Amino acid sequence: MACKNCKTKPVIKLPNSNVQLCKNDFIKYFERKVAKTIGKYKLIEKGDYVGVAASGGKDSTSLLYILNILAKKNNFKIIGIAIDEGIKGYRDFTLKDLKEFCKKNKINLKIYSFKDEFKSTLDKLVKKERPCTICGVLRRALLNKKSKELKINKLATGHNLDDESQSVLMNYFRRNIKLSARLGPITGVVKDERFIKRIKPLYFLTEKETSTYAFIKGFIGEYITCPYEVDSYRASVRDMLNDFEEKYPGTKYNVISSFLEILPLLKNKKIAAIKSCKECGEPSSQDICQACKLVKKI
Ligand code: SF4
Ligand code: ZN
Repeated sequence: MACKNCKTKPVIKLPNSNVQLCKNDFIKYFERKVAKTIGKYKLIEKGDYVGVAASGGKDSTSLLYILNILAKKNNFKIIGIAIDEGIKGYRDFTLKDLKEFCKKNKINLKIYSFKDEFKSTLDKLVKKERPCTICGVLRRALLNKKSKELKINKLATGHNLDDESQSVLMNYFRRNIKLSARLGPITGVVKDERFIKRIKPLYFLTEKETSTYAFIKGFIGEYITCPYEVDSYRASVRDMLNDFEEKYPGTKYNVISSFLEILPLLKNKKIAAIKSCKECGEPSSQDICQACKLVKKI
């Protein structure tokens, strides 16, 4: 089969359809889909100052690249924000790629580290708690804090359809349904200026599509994965979902579509008032925030 539009050699068969696209048409399709998601869910508006949570990986680099183009055309500003968790042999390499990418594309980049903020690295902390738990909680807290300091009003993350469908299922499996209220193309349940709104412009693009885009654009450097990834709960859910998708194409998309139907109900559920953490002052549903509790524990 040839490209649907120009009959040349295709590079990808789109998920959930029989459509195949060549390199150029796929790039157009991908970038249009990002712009469409931004428009449909009003993720970004004129005058916004958007922080892009970047890691040097394929998803966030693709996002940074596309938002940089859109920012110039649509009158908003962006800045890259990266967190160095201190994962030797992994984050040092991805951050090197990220710095080079930002320099080449003239994008401002700020890097903050666990070492400066929490006086330790993830490599040292993993003996005391599951790596992805520490990483997720501390990174989220640091991103929120630094975004406020930079006076950013939205934080864009590179989460794609695969990531989101995994999160939805993980919350089901762990009976954490309340946490799912925070998911969706715009993250958060409460309007509170202490929380920087998180947006996911790659929400409707699959892992396969983002990888293909990044590959065509040359954003994939040396292929390395986080050494802690193998042990994670997410990795098990990911493998299960990939297996299902293979046997029953459209599964991931169906998980997200069903989820988006019930999301308004979840968001409307009454939630406890947001307090300020007694230790660090960051927003929290309890007296002491998760990050401070974790730091104390480890
Ligand atoms: Fe952090 Fe876990 Fe991702 Fe590694 S796999 S970067 S530890 S969340
Ligand atoms: Zn705190």
